Amino acid sequence: MSCLFCSIISGDIPCHKIYEDESTFAFLDINPVSVGHTLIVPKAHAENLDAGSEADAVAVAKAVYKIAPAVMKAVSADGYNLGMNHGECAGQEVAHTHFHLMPRKTNTPRTWTKLHPSSESLEETAATIRAILG
Ligand code: AMP
Ligand code: ZN
Repeated sequence: MSCLFCSIISGDIPCHKIYEDESTFAFLDINPVSVGHTLIVPKAHAENLDAGSEADAVAVAKAVYKIAPAVMKAVSADGYNLGMNHGECAGQEVAHTHFHLMPRKTNTPRTWTKLHPSSESLEETAATIRAILG
């Protein structure tokens, strides 16, 4: 089975990683809708949240709890959208459970348009988040 996010987790495909623990992994979305757009995933492959274990669902929620304040601080956000696309009909393109954490700022357009930042710019954001997470 070939899975893009499993390959990212294993290190076979590079990413802008911000966090990892025993059962979760987080990295920047390569085409973010806002600066700091982060994907938070369970390490164990499952196509969607309910195909995985309850323990992994809890672990991902705990990772969001830990990561979200650091992402907000890193990009000076005032809030965020947290979302998950379940199934093709909902826009799911990668069949490995992932939450989208999308920082938002007051008085800026809340668009869903994908940006195309440089790899250097993504890595700069990732490094700032990693430094805050410690
Ligand atoms: P979804 O449409 O919910 O399945 O989201 C998949 C997300 O993965 C999209 O927002 C893509 O921009 C993102 N994505 C695709 N390939 C990569 C990659 N190699 N590294 C980081 N994010 C990616
Ligand atoms: Zn996978």
